[in-house]
Parts: sequence; structure tokens; C-alpha cells
Amino acid sequence: MKVLLVFFAALVVGALGEQLFVGDQVLRITASNEKQIALLRALGEREDLQLDFWRDPTKPGHPSDLHVPFPSLQAVKIFLESHGISYSIMIKDVQQLLDEEKKIMLLSKERERSTSTFDFASYHTLDEIYNWLDTLVANHPGLVSKIQIGESYEKRPLYVLKFSTGGSNRPAIWLDTGIHSREWVTQATGVWTANKLAEEYGRDPSITAILDSMDIFFEIVTNPDGYAFTHSSNRLWRKTRSINAGSSCIGVDPNRNWDAGFGGSGSSGSPCSETYRGPYAHSESEVKSIVDFILGHGNVKALISIHSYSQMLMFPYGYKSEPAPDFQELNELAKKAVNDLAEVYGTKYTYGSIIDTIYVASGTTVDWAYDNGVKYSYTFELRDTGRYGFLLPSSQIIPTATETWPALVDIMLHVQQHPY
Ligand SMILES: [Zn+2]
Repeated sequence: MKVLLVFFAALVVGALGEQLFVGDQVLRITASNEKQIALLRALGEREDLQLDFWRDPTKPGHPSDLHVPFPSLQAVKIFLESHGISYSIMIKDVQQLLDEEKKIMLLSKERERSTSTFDFASYHTLDEIYNWLDTLVANHPGLVSKIQIGESYEKRPLYVLKFSTGGSNRPAIWLDTGIHSREWVTQATGVWTANKLAEEYGRDPSITAILDSMDIFFEIVTNPDGYAFTHSSNRLWRKTRSINAGSSCIGVDPNRNWDAGFGGSGSSGSPCSETYRGPYAHSESEVKSIVDFILGHGNVKALISIHSYSQMLMFPYGYKSEPAPDFQELNELAKKAVNDLAEVYGTKYTYGSIIDTIYVASGTTVDWAYDNGVKYSYTFELRDTGRYGFLLPSSQIIPTATETWPALVDIMLHVQQHPY
């Protein structure tokens, strides 16, 4: 009977075109030596198993998280056991978490409807966030405006909030969230943070000082096609939605598509990979639009690109091991930011250059920004460290945003106080 029920549930949801993850697990795997790391990487390459590293294997002793579809579970567990690689089950049934998430979203939607308020503690669809952008602008007309910097592959507008108290072409800070669409806590943190910026101007002396001399540009849904797809079809979609010539696999990793060490290791040439770099640098309009905007602006002094998960604050470089010329200053500032973040709820972050903190990654946003004169280039990986991974419960949105706020203020204030 239970089997039948599951089957019918699959049919119903399946009819709406939504991908199901019934029985899929996320394994936390810890390799104890380089040989095991190599074995794990090779495992991840096997296309027949449809595996997805939520967190890549990096170095011995560092955990990696692997999403394994139900049909591949037995093969993967046998592989790990036969090579003596230790693992534990982090998420026992991915679909169960997704069902829970959906239930909570529906409840929140009802609450929002009956109270006519926007619930910052809930996840929202693309349309809801786009509507909210207009609400924010309407509530803060002298401070916030909305600009369009381009169009996505599927012709959705790419919107950026501009926070400005006047002047022309002031030095600017760029913020983005959601370039990887499944990292839902980032878009939600983006919404909370944009609201906070607007509310704190004229109240908080740091925010007031920053906005009295600089502009802030904030792209909250940086990959709208992917984000819409995470709601309609596949909650775990990471990439853009472009069609790849000669392949049935869709999408490019927009954080491997930038012209900074493009094509190097830590990115893939295979369209079916989650880290597919694309046919050429800036092939993705979601990326190219930011490139054109930042170069056209010419006065962007800081870029902060927000991802999840892993609890890390990183800066260039990802594509080479040579330290960035500003390493010391960037490192000191990162240290202060993560300390202030930890003071809020005790959440621990690691920090450092991308290559030292995770592994080599080429074609990333922050490396491109840094190589193009944006000295203060940072990338966050927000909560958690893997218990829920990309499926972080919405009850953690406000705590995540709240603790991240002082770290963002640290960086922005430092930029304001160190003009260059
Ligand atoms: Zn990401």
C-alpha cells in the first residue's frame, strides 16, 4: 500500500513537471588520503550514476557532500566501502526535506495573503521577489531605485537595486546573491539585506556614512532562469538555463564563466557537469550583463558575491596559487568580518583565498573583478556546513541574514574609509 501511495504521489507531482528525489541521499564523505580524493573525483565523473557533489572533495580530512540518486545508492556505498572511504548519511531522504519546505512555504503564503505583509522568514518565487523590489523602491523613493542591466537567456529582465543619495558616478559597491539558483538562502538573505540597507540609512552611522559617499548596486536574483526553474521543475538546479550546442545537457555554471583563468582546472569542459564553464568566457548573458555594467560604470570599488553553503569568506585568487597583491589587507579584513559574524550567534566561518580555503576554481566572479581593478572582492558561502546544505530550512533565513550583516558592514565601511 505504501509503495502504491508513493507511486501515486510521484504520478501527481510528476504530472506537474516537477523532478522528484524520493529516496535520494546526501552522503558526507571524508577521504583520508590523496588517493581517496582522486577516487572520489573519478566517482563524481561517472555519468551513469548521476552524482552531484554539493561540496567537492578537496583535501584529506575535509568533508565532502555527495547527492546520490536512489538508484545509484547501492553502487556508491559499495564503492566507498570497498575502498575503505568513510562516510555517513547526512540527508536520509532528499524528497522528504523538499516536501517539508514546500509545506512551510504554502503556510507562509497564506499568512502573507491574510496580513498583506511580506514574510522575510520565508522563501519566495521569482515573481514575488520581483514584486517586492518595486515595494522597496516605493517605500524608499529618495534612496532606492531599480535598474535593468540586461536580459537572461530566457529573456527575463536582470534587475539591480541602486542605493544612492545623489552625486554622479560615485564610487560603488556591487553585491549579488543567487548566481547559483538552488542556494535559496542567498536570495532570501539578499532581500533581507536590501531592506536593512534602506531602513538603516539615517539611523546606523556606518550605513549613513557609506551611502553619503558611495552607491550600492545589489542584484538579488542574479540567475533568474535558474531560480524560476528551482521553483517549477528542479529544486536543485544550479546553472543557467542555456541550451548547449551538441549536448542534451542544459546550462552553464555562471561562476566558472568569467574571463579570469577561464578554462583552467576547477571547471569542466563537459556541458553535463555542474561546473561546466561554457563555450567561451562571458557566454552567459547573466554574466556578460554584470561585466558590461561594472566596466561601463568604471568606479566600482568592491564586489561581494554571495553563495551557500559551507560558512566561508573568501577572496582572490581561485585560479592561481600566487597570493593576490592585496592579500594581507584582504585577509585582515576577512578575519575581522568573520569574527564579527561569529559574535552574533557563534556561527563559525573559515576564511582565506579561494584556492587555499577550498580548491582551485577558475573563471569565478571575484577573480574577474579583482583582475579588473576591483580591489575589495569577496565571496561568502553562507550557512550551513552540510546538515541541510542547499535545503536550509526557512527558519534559518533571518538568523543567517542577521549574522551576515555585521560582516558586510565591516567590508563596506572599510572600503568607504580606504578610498583608492
Ligand atoms: Zn554557489
